[in-house]
Amino acid sequence: MPEFRELLDGYHRFRRNDYHRHRGRWEELAEGQQPPVMIIACCDSRVDPATVFDLLPGQAFVLRNVANIVPPFDVEAGLAGVRSAIEFGVTGLGVRHVVVMGHGACGGIKAALAGGDQGAPGHSHLDDWISLIDEPRDAVVANEAIADKQLALEQAAIRHSLANLRTFPYIAEREAAGKLKLHGCHFTIGEGRLLVLDEESGEFMID
Ligand SMILES: [Zn+2]
Repeated sequence: MPEFRELLDGYHRFRRNDYHRHRGRWEELAEGQQPPVMIIACCDSRVDPATVFDLLPGQAFVLRNVANIVPPFDVEAGLAGVRSAIEFGVTGLGVRHVVVMGHGACGGIKAALAGGDQGAPGHSHLDDWISLIDEPRDAVVANEAIADKQLALEQAAIRHSLANLRTFPYIAEREAAGKLKLHGCHFTIGEGRLLVLDEESGEFMID
């Protein structure tokens, strides 16, 4: 199984190349981070925000989970990994933008469309997680005018996550004060194209 060796080979290339060339930048970054942007993306191996947005280290605070879902604000929630990352990004780091990036051929979205009972046998945390998009899923499934349910739910789930972000009081306050902007994007893997949500029309458009 050579895969971990391949990771270490990549690390050594990083040491020889990027780290060696930009040592000053890395030393500066060691003092602290001030990313202006938070990106919430899927865990999918094909849609790394660092690649899609050609990011430099320190440029974006990134949270990845299955199907780039944001749960609503909930003080009763237990150990809340996603909510705590959002809280730290917005109130701790003071990011000025939060971007939710969905993508084509998303397995989490496919599982939701297949009925949500797609995870491991016994109790499935994946099924629990995906149930967060039951509402947009049911709306997309019920709409007979929609032919491409997969794409429609990928995009509807992004809108749903943006609405959920606005249930966090510190996000609603900052957005109302013009200190924070929310954005939705959809990356089509095969064409390498990013569509950006225009919230006025509700449509995803080529930038
Ligand atoms: Zn995905």
